[in-house]
Amino acid sequence: MADDIDLAQACEELDREAAIAARPSPKLAPGVPGDCEYCGEWFSRLVGGACGFCRDRYKLP
Ligand SMILES: [Zn+2]
Repeated sequence: MADDIDLAQACEELDREAAIAARPSPKLAPGVPGDCEYCGEWFSRLVGGACGFCRDRYKLP
């Protein structure tokens, strides 16, 4: 039954997303306060040590 397979795949997709959302990621924190490593300005939210402006400027992930 195609419908059963689609449903099973949809459930697997949800399980994977839930697992990813629940997993803590210490290396890539969503955002930490501190001095930007690129421009030296203090920001309340740095990702990978870079502020949002520098991530745009240097095409950082
Ligand atoms: Zn910066």
